Amino acid sequence: MNWISVATRVFFLTVLAAAVGFYYGYPWVAVMITLIGVLAYWLYQLRRMQLWLQDPRQRPPDVYGIWGELLAQIYVHQRKNKEVQESLRSTVNYLQDSFASMRDGVVMVGEQGAIKWFNKAVEPLLGLRYPDDRGQTLTNLVRAPEFNAYFLGGDYTSPLEYCITGDVSLHLRVEITHFGHGARLLFVRDVTAAVRIEQIRRDFVGNVSHELRTPLTVITGYLGTFLTDTDGLPPQYHKALLQMEQQAQRMENLLKDLLWLSRIESEQREGKQELVNIGTLLEELRDEVAGVNPERKLDLALETNQGVYGDYRELYSAVSNLVNNAIKYSPQDSPVRVCWRQQGDSCLLSVHDRGMGIDSVHFPRLTERFYRVDESRSSTTGGTGIGLAIVKHVAAVHGARLQIESELGEGSTFTLVFPVRS
Ligand code: ADP
Repeated sequence: MNWISVATRVFFLTVLAAAVGFYYGYPWVAVMITLIGVLAYWLYQLRRMQLWLQDPRQRPPDVYGIWGELLAQIYVHQRKNKEVQESLRSTVNYLQDSFASMRDGVVMVGEQGAIKWFNKAVEPLLGLRYPDDRGQTLTNLVRAPEFNAYFLGGDYTSPLEYCITGDVSLHLRVEITHFGHGARLLFVRDVTAAVRIEQIRRDFVGNVSHELRTPLTVITGYLGTFLTDTDGLPPQYHKALLQMEQQAQRMENLLKDLLWLSRIESEQREGKQELVNIGTLLEELRDEVAGVNPERKLDLALETNQGVYGDYRELYSAVSNLVNNAIKYSPQDSPVRVCWRQQGDSCLLSVHDRGMGIDSVHFPRLTERFYRVDESRSSTTGGTGIGLAIVKHVAAVHGARLQIESELGEGSTFTLVFPVRS
């Protein structure tokens, strides 16, 4: 029944009442009484609806006409709403159950930094207590200053790793993502075992390299002695000795690189930062290259005098690896250019050569230890396969990244991109 038929009914009822009233000599009184009656009936229906709406768990009352239709529509909406709410609730419960059963710690934090929810696994990691700490400000409860700086800093592009010391020390890895309106979801993982294994691996490589150096020194010493006087030796021995000396030299370079890498990987850096003058560093490197290989010239382009906070020796070793590669993998007469310049809020140190270049399929793996584009290349150049791993590590600890551009047969540009100091 629509409102027009309701209005029509009321109209005809009023006309009928007016006619009857007219017959008895009181038309207005009859109309008034009829309208009051209609109004009273509506109010009664409204009251029943109101009572039902106050407690919708009851059965809906039997009301008629337009009120009945209204009630039916409200009832349908309520049913739908209830279904949506139930499905939402079961989704939320499902998500909470899955988060709760995760071995990683999960914390949901609201816009103002108050804890909305967390699972059991996070309790020993961040020192929270369930359910008392719900609603508390997360940064008031977590003691670690690294965590609080990271959480409040708002830059979550890379995860935070930090160590908490106590009865047992824990290495934690925290990842944060934004969701909803300003809310944050934290994943906290205990990476102590992985860190320990990585440490054991580093120590192992470092120790083996160290232990191998002494026998190697003895071998190269004797080889040197034999090679100073080869007159009495048969010619095939001479060739073999030369090859042995060449391979021993290669091994020595490899051990030197491995030791250096394991040393810079386990370096404690706190408070060891100095402002490194990149201009001075590049000039020293140019002199070194000129001393070792006078035919090769290094073109320097120093376009900025910005410095880099860090360790001079580490930065020197990274740039020297890039320059030595550029020299190794390009013809003797082709130029190698090193440029230090500022571009926006980055400082770029690029080493450019016009050598053999690298196919882009190798780019993702180039910085892995021992990865070589082509075994034959490195055996002729005496490469160790560690150089770019050193560069990558030094870049990472100096907040920089390594960018590789290269084309086969055209040459390569390796660029270290440093953030500008503010
Ligand atoms: P290596 O000691 O073998 O040079 P690196 O880690 O320094 O080891 O480099 C890995 C590989 O990347 C090298 O074996 C070489 O094939 C390739 N490479 C590095 N720099 C260059 C370059 N400037 N031009 C061409 N190839 C390069």
